[in-house]
Amino acid sequence: MKMLNNLFKKLNKPVPVFAQTKMEKETPDDSSYTKPKTTFDDVAGLDEVKEELFEIVDFMKNPEKYKKMGAKIPKGVLFYGPPGTGKTLLASAVAGETNSSFFNVTGSEFVEKYVGVGAKRVRTLFEKARKEAPSIIFIDEIDALGAKRHSESNNEKDQTLNQLLVEMDGFTKDSNVIVIGATNRLDLLDEALLRPGRFDRHIHIGSPNYHTRFEILKVHTKNKPLDKRVSIELLAKKTHGFNGAHLANIANEAAIFAVRENSKLITESHFDKALERVIAGLESKNSKLIEKEKKIVSYHEAGHALVSDLVGISPIQKISIIPRGQALGYVLQLPDEDRYIYTKDELIGKMKILLAGKASEELIFNQKSTGAKDDLRKVTDIANQMVCEYGMSDLGFMTLDNNTKSFLSEKIQKEANSIVEKCYEETLELLQNNINELHIISNHLFENETMTHDELKSLIRKEIC
Ligand code: ATP
Repeated sequence: MKMLNNLFKKLNKPVPVFAQTKMEKETPDDSSYTKPKTTFDDVAGLDEVKEELFEIVDFMKNPEKYKKMGAKIPKGVLFYGPPGTGKTLLASAVAGETNSSFFNVTGSEFVEKYVGVGAKRVRTLFEKARKEAPSIIFIDEIDALGAKRHSESNNEKDQTLNQLLVEMDGFTKDSNVIVIGATNRLDLLDEALLRPGRFDRHIHIGSPNYHTRFEILKVHTKNKPLDKRVSIELLAKKTHGFNGAHLANIANEAAIFAVRENSKLITESHFDKALERVIAGLESKNSKLIEKEKKIVSYHEAGHALVSDLVGISPIQKISIIPRGQALGYVLQLPDEDRYIYTKDELIGKMKILLAGKASEELIFNQKSTGAKDDLRKVTDIANQMVCEYGMSDLGFMTLDNNTKSFLSEKIQKEANSIVEKCYEETLELLQNNINELHIISNHLFENETMTHDELKSLIRKEIC
């Protein structure tokens, strides 16, 4: 390319733009950085994590204080936990608090086909970070480049990881560069990365509990015009199992619904719509079900709703047979409290609720349909966990790792299958014993397409009276 450029210059002609653009593409700048304005105030909840990070911020702001005591500045911090829980946000807040240059990269960016290319990228990144110090290098999905090495490892990957280790070892006391890695799978990482002096601080960032969800929702609704009746407490309760990214999305979707309806304020109904959209996907306005399918879906969802009410694990918010995303219908069930452990009976109850759609179809139409695929996948997961992880089957209390699982696969399948079959039989019986309620709920759904918790309760109550 250089030769081509010189040729144009010799000919006294301007270098054509296509040549310059191509040049940029051939040598991408792996090490661009930003100066984020994010602070710890933008990160809701996670107080214990922030406390741990305050120390690192202090290290970076007042290195002398620590040097006098002979303390070494930590070189690496590893965030681990499920996606969307604020790992990137926290790393950018550390950069913002310390006025550092923020290098935000992903592990997979360093995975290359040609030996040495990934390692070179790592070298360039660290050179630039040292030049622009104080710096924070944030490597998301670090497992892509830092996975455990073994005898059949790929040479290119090993070289890249080695280079990362070399760079981290090469930090001098004064370099003021901190590497923050993030992964969803700590167990995949190579031991060498986790050794003291490299990523020696491991911070778990888990799914937010009620308090953190409340704080996150407050942050994301702070500058939005909310109707007085909107209760963030209630919203935090309804969003059990949601991560920070989901919550930010709900706040944003609610605002978009308000704009769409030309409303000056964001109301509770906008939040409910946003919640439904985030959980169940986009409402498909044009995909009308044919009459026969609508009947099947009505009984399927009525089955879920009725068994859910009978088992009584978590309240139903809404039942709908309006197709959304890939689902033809859905039951919106939101627990009103955070749960961390479930008893065996509760897991069985969950499976019955999931199986009730299929059971209802079979009871009424005496045939199976393809509509229960997702339910069956979830049921299979629960049954397998009961056998392999929770010691809730006749196979005993031992947890089974992948090796044992493949060795015992036939027995595990048999055991899990018998749990599911028993649940299914009991679900059929439950529906049979409450067949009138099933017809009533299904007919109501068929006519009105949706049903709220209160409507369901009043229909069932009427039937009992
Ligand atoms: P991934 O593992 O998928 O990269 P992550 O853990 O890095 O996810 P972030 O990208 O930091 O997650 O979070 C996504 C978005 O969720 C943030 O931009 C922010 O809007 C919101 N969010 C997550 N956690 C919090 C929090 N504690 N406070 C405020 N907002 C949050």
